[in-house]
Amino acid sequence: MPSQVLVLGAGLSGLSCAFDLARAGRDVRVLEAAPRAGGVVGTLAREGYLFEMGPHTLQASSENFRRLAGDLGLAERLIASRPEGRERYLWHQGALRALPSSIPSMITTPLLSLGGKLRIATEILRRYTPPADGSEPDMESFLVERLGREAALRLGGAFVRGVYAAELRDLGAASAFPRMYAAARDHGGLVRGLAFKKKAKSEPLPGPDVPRMDLLSFPGGLQELVDALSKELGARLLLDQAALSIERAGELWRVKTKSGVHEARELVLALPVLPALELLRSAGIQASEFALVRHAQVVMVHAGFARADLPSFPRGFGFLVPPPQAGSGPGPRALGMIFASNLFVGRAPEDCVSVAGFYRGEELEALDESARIAQAGRDLALALGLGEPPRPLVGATRSWKNVIPRYSTGHRARVRGLCATLTQRASGVHLAGPWVDGVSVEMVIARGRRVARALLEGTSSEPAP
Ligand SMILES: Cc1cc2nc3c(=O)[nH]c(=O)nc-3n(C[C@H](O)[C@H](O)[C@H](O)COP(=O)(O)OP(=O)(O)OC[C@H]3O[C@@H](n4cnc5c(N)ncnc54)[C@H](O)[C@@H]3O)c2cc1C
Repeated sequence: MPSQVLVLGAGLSGLSCAFDLARAGRDVRVLEAAPRAGGVVGTLAREGYLFEMGPHTLQASSENFRRLAGDLGLAERLIASRPEGRERYLWHQGALRALPSSIPSMITTPLLSLGGKLRIATEILRRYTPPADGSEPDMESFLVERLGREAALRLGGAFVRGVYAAELRDLGAASAFPRMYAAARDHGGLVRGLAFKKKAKSEPLPGPDVPRMDLLSFPGGLQELVDALSKELGARLLLDQAALSIERAGELWRVKTKSGVHEARELVLALPVLPALELLRSAGIQASEFALVRHAQVVMVHAGFARADLPSFPRGFGFLVPPPQAGSGPGPRALGMIFASNLFVGRAPEDCVSVAGFYRGEELEALDESARIAQAGRDLALALGLGEPPRPLVGATRSWKNVIPRYSTGHRARVRGLCATLTQRASGVHLAGPWVDGVSVEMVIARGRRVARALLEGTSSEPAP
C-alpha cells in the first residue's frame, strides 16, 4: 500500500516534518539509513558523564526548537544553562580572554587595538552599499569592509569557526548569515540593521523564562528530543532502510531500499546534500552544481577530568580559537572547546569536569581515540596555562564527514533554483536537510515543519528558502 508521504532521513529535519504530518493524520513513513534515529544529534552516557556527540548548544531564542519541544510535551523538561555558563573566551596571545559582552567591556577588551575598536565604533557612520553587480560578497570581504580586518578575522573568524567549522572566506554573507546580511543591506549597516530590527512579539515560548542568549537542553541531553519524536512516530519510523534510488511510477514516487520498495505520493528528502543529490540523479534530476558543496569535516573529542586536577578550570561556556591570520599567535589545535560540565547540571559526576573539543578532521583523523583525547588534554592545558596536561578519566570521540555544509556565495540562489526545477520536473519531491535553509538545529526544524505545512496545505510548489 502506498503512503501519502515518505520522509527519507530521520535527523531532526525529517523527524520534525514527519511528526507534524503524523499529528495531522497523514499516512507518513520515515526511512532512515542508520540503525538509530537523530542523525547528527545524539547523547552518549558514559561512566556518569553525558556527552553530546553532535550539537550542544541551543539558544533560548530558538523559537522552532522550543515550540517543537512544547508540542512534544517536553516543555517541563527543558532546562536552562547555569548563569556562569554565559562567559565566553577567545584564545589570544597566549591566554584565554573574555569576549566582550557589553559596550564598557568592548571599550576595555584587550582583544582589539584602539584602531580596531574605533573601526567598529564608526561602522554606523559608513553606509553599506552591496556590490553594484548584484553579486554576493563572501563573509571575509563583507566583515572586513564593515568592521575592519582585526575585528573581522579575530572575532568574526573565531565565531564562524564555532558555527560552521569554516573560515570566513568559505562562506557567502547572504547565504550563511541571511538575516544579518539583509539587515545591513536594507538599513545601510550592521549597527543600523540591529537598531531597526523589529522587536519580536514577546509571546511566551515553551520552557523556562530565561534571557534569549542562555542555552537550553534536557536533563538527558538532546537525545530526549530524538527519543520523543521517535516515540511519537512509532512503527512509522523504519530504521536500517537506506533509500537507494527514487523513480516516478505513475502518480507515485517509488523508493528502493535493500529490503524492498516503498511508494508514496510525496517524498521529502531530509538528507545531507550528497545522498540527496544521488537520489535526485536516480530520478533524472541533475543538480551537479551542488556536487561542489564543501563540508566541514569535524572531530568531536570529549574528555572528563577530576576537578582537583584542574584548579584553574574557568567558569563559562568555553573558548574559540581565531584563524591563524587573525594575529592571535600560535594556540590550541582545536577550533574551540566547550566546558560542557559548566553548562548544565548532570553532565559530569560530582567533583569532575568535562570538556568537548572540536577539531578539523584533517588535524585528528589519523589518530586513534586515546591520542585524540590526549590532544584535547594538551589543548586544555595550553588554554589554562597548565604546565602538564591533566589526566583524562574518560573520553569519547566522533568523526563527522559531509554533514556540515558550507554555504558558499550563491548557495541560497542555487537552492532556490533547484526548488523551482523540482516544482517543474519532479513535483511531489521536497527538500529539507542542513543544506537547504540553514544548518542549525533551529533552522532544520523550521525547514522540516515548513515542508510539512506546505504538504498539509496542498501547496503545489516546493517552498523555496
Ligand atoms: C559536530 C556537530 C556539532 C553541531 N553543533 C551544533 C550546535 O551547537 N547548534 C546547532 O544549532 N547546530 C549544530 N550542528 C548542526 C545541526 O546539528 C545539524 O545541521 C542538524 O542536526 C542536521 O539535521 P538534519 O536532520 O537536517 O540532518 P542529519 O542530522 O544529517 O540527518 C540526516 C539523516 O539522513 C540519513 N540518511 C542519509 N542517507 C540516507 C539515505 N540514502 N536513506 C535514508 N536515510 C539517509 C542519515 O543517516 C541521517 O540520520 C552541529 C552539527 C555537528 C555535526
